[in-house]
Amino acid sequence: MIYLDHLASTPLDPLVLEAMLPWMRPDAAGNPHAAHAAGWRAADAIERARAEVATLVGAQPGEVVFTAGATEANTLALLGSLPPEGACVVSAVEHASVLGCLPELRRRGHPVTVLPVDGDGRVDPAAAERALASLDGTPALLSVMAANNEVGTVQPLAELAEIARRHGALMHSDAVQALTTRPIAMGPIDMAALGLHGLSLSGHKMYGPMGIGALVARPPFRPAPLSPGGGQQRGRRPGTLPTPLCVGLGTACRLVRERRESDTDRIHKLRDRLWQRLRDGLPTIRRNGAADGLAGCLNVTLPGIDAADRLLELPDLAAATGSACHSGAGEPSHVLLAMGRSAADAHATLRFGLGRDTTAAEVDAAAARLIAVLGG
Ligand code: PMP
Repeated sequence: MIYLDHLASTPLDPLVLEAMLPWMRPDAAGNPHAAHAAGWRAADAIERARAEVATLVGAQPGEVVFTAGATEANTLALLGSLPPEGACVVSAVEHASVLGCLPELRRRGHPVTVLPVDGDGRVDPAAAERALASLDGTPALLSVMAANNEVGTVQPLAELAEIARRHGALMHSDAVQALTTRPIAMGPIDMAALGLHGLSLSGHKMYGPMGIGALVARPPFRPAPLSPGGGQQRGRRPGTLPTPLCVGLGTACRLVRERRESDTDRIHKLRDRLWQRLRDGLPTIRRNGAADGLAGCLNVTLPGIDAADRLLELPDLAAATGSACHSGAGEPSHVLLAMGRSAADAHATLRFGLGRDTTAAEVDAAAARLIAVLGG
């Protein structure tokens, strides 16, 4: 199996697994919220993990709220943070977990604005400026992802955060895809330096475990909990914390910090190698998204093919058509449509996600198989 679907999920790093295992053994039993030695040990490990998450994104440990993943973090950020008259401004290329909150926000009477993107999937800061200016002082949340999960385009977060600040709005970013490598078009994401109030991340997109993520919320951003009962995490996200998953996420964040620079350079070169091979072998191929986007992302259209069908001919190659959240649904990617592509082109599109474990030999073998199947 050649695994080129790291944007959908990254394999667990062996060091993460090693750090988690002791907390899954029977002798590690103990509710981390319980007042006895076993509970305190678990709570200690969780607090160390919380500090690792905070360090990775330039926040304070107390600002990290563990969730079940980024879908929950995004939901908490969007549905929990607006005052009664508050407005929400998002981009058209957000993940489904953000866009899916919009009908509920509208139902609650919140004004909602969806910002268009250009042909590369990038939001124009001037459009965000106009949207916030037209709200005329209404409290607002601007939520724009750091990097897109389908085409890899990086958003101008610093500019957007500055615009939000000028208009007294809060700024949240779904940074799920932008943490493991340094997006080519920006440095590491530092919430304090960028002026971000909220950030969502997910364990299984950064070589950590599935089923855990975090919303990092810096004052005055204080999302109300989605579950009213239980006081864990100071009531911000009640529920017993899963010690092994928290420890795994913390370890994954530490490894990302240590490896991000070298991962970025290596993965970026492999991504360019894959693009070159495919371009040489498939003359009609076109690339989607900004070339200076996520290091590991390559999104391509081969006009006329049925991408989903053709991938079935390559069962030993893990790649995606559009986003994983769309595959199976048969709907053309909302990201490609927002970028001005046709539904036919969206169905002819493949997404490759390269990662920490990808090798040059795998890239060459994947390209050869793709050219053999798609070039005929
Ligand atoms: N946002 C983005 C940009 C994503 O790529 C994903 C995963 N597809 C999510 C949010 C949802 O994350 P999770 O799987 O942790 O719920």
